[in-house]
Amino acid sequence: MNKESLLREFRKKQYRFFGNGDAAIQVCEWNKKALRGKGHCYKQDFYGAHCISCHQITPSALWCNNSCVFCWRPMEYMRGKPPSPLSPEKMIEGLIEERKILISGFKSSGASARKRYDEAMEEKHWAISLSGEPTLYKKLPQLISLLKKRPKTETVFLVSNGQNPKMLFQLWEKNSLPTQLYISIAAPNKGLYRKITCNTEKNGWKNYLKSLALLKLLPCRTVIRLTLIKELNYSEETLCEFAEVLEAVQSDFIEVKAYMNLGFSRRRLKYEAMPSHSEVKAYSEQLLEKMPSYAYESEKKESRIVLLKKRKSRFKTKIIERD
Ligand code: SF4
Repeated sequence: MNKESLLREFRKKQYRFFGNGDAAIQVCEWNKKALRGKGHCYKQDFYGAHCISCHQITPSALWCNNSCVFCWRPMEYMRGKPPSPLSPEKMIEGLIEERKILISGFKSSGASARKRYDEAMEEKHWAISLSGEPTLYKKLPQLISLLKKRPKTETVFLVSNGQNPKMLFQLWEKNSLPTQLYISIAAPNKGLYRKITCNTEKNGWKNYLKSLALLKLLPCRTVIRLTLIKELNYSEETLCEFAEVLEAVQSDFIEVKAYMNLGFSRRRLKYEAMPSHSEVKAYSEQLLEKMPSYAYESEKKESRIVLLKKRKSRFKTKIIERD
């Protein structure tokens, strides 16, 4: 699949791009629900992130150094390094304009709908988590600093696959860490890591462990997102290994989440690979039995997710008090 056909695939999913396909934005289903006044995502439930004005972006839409079997995107075609980095200032302004087009259909005369539309324009929450690996974007520190300085910004979340510890360190050094930094985990050992992420980098596992080790040193909120996939990492053996790794990493939060059988992942995994919410809950409870540092904090059934929190975390769970 070449770049043009990749862009076509993403446009079908209502991605809008800035630059020649380097950066992108999308309005997710939860964001649309919020615009219809029909609820909001678990990041608002758990942390108070402003779902309705979420700008879900990526500076590296078509590039990742992993090819995770559970990923919704066409990972098989998204390898390699992104081209020259776009100006973060132009990218932000460009993506804001693209999002206006994406939500223009929600602009209506009805008072409440209009009020929600105006709220959605407030860009209080930025989620750098859309597609690809954002730490491959060389100007990520500038991008995050600019987003944090914007007058209306309350929260900036960054989701990384942990393959680039140098960039995470740079964010720290340049005082450009996000409000909340996520590293995703789907394997507690090198063998399973290679099998699930299809990572072929010589030092892939080493890089990953370096990023995990960095988390407890960073002054920002840290989250490990554990994706459970039946018949791959959802087992008694992995339970003990995950508990050991997670206890050592000491992130402030752990999101234990079900793999969701969506998008391109359906070409790689069966529907049955998706754990139910009760299975995710049961696995989380068993994890807690082996992890004295952590306690149950919350859950959201529709998203098949359970939140665990480090007992000694210095952060309140809610960043912003909102329902
Ligand atoms: S934080 Fe994530 S789930 Fe919530 S609205 Fe933004 S992109 Fe959607």
